[in-house]
Amino acid sequence: MRKQYLHLSAYSCDQCRSPVVAASLAVRENEISKETEIRQVGAMCLSCGHRQNGATHPQRARHFSPIEWESGSAIDAGRLTAAYTEALNRAELH
Ligand SMILES: [Zn+2]
Repeated sequence: MRKQYLHLSAYSCDQCRSPVVAASLAVRENEISKETEIRQVGAMCLSCGHRQNGATHPQRARHFSPIEWESGSAIDAGRLTAAYTEALNRAELH
């Protein structure tokens, strides 16, 4: 059965060293299939609000167990993906 999973990870903010929490969503067609349609939902520092889309030291990032996440209207994935792409594009300008 097709299910959607939420993945959370945490890493250190480049600006203030507080935790940045990053989220992504992935779909599994059944119990044994690999995850597909992986998309970033967003990432933000809990302290200063810096939107840091990747860990500067990926080996230090903590990854939490995926959580089954009901798909539906609560998360507009298309809009989120667009916002994420926009954030990436902005980041590349700097
Ligand atoms: Zn910060």
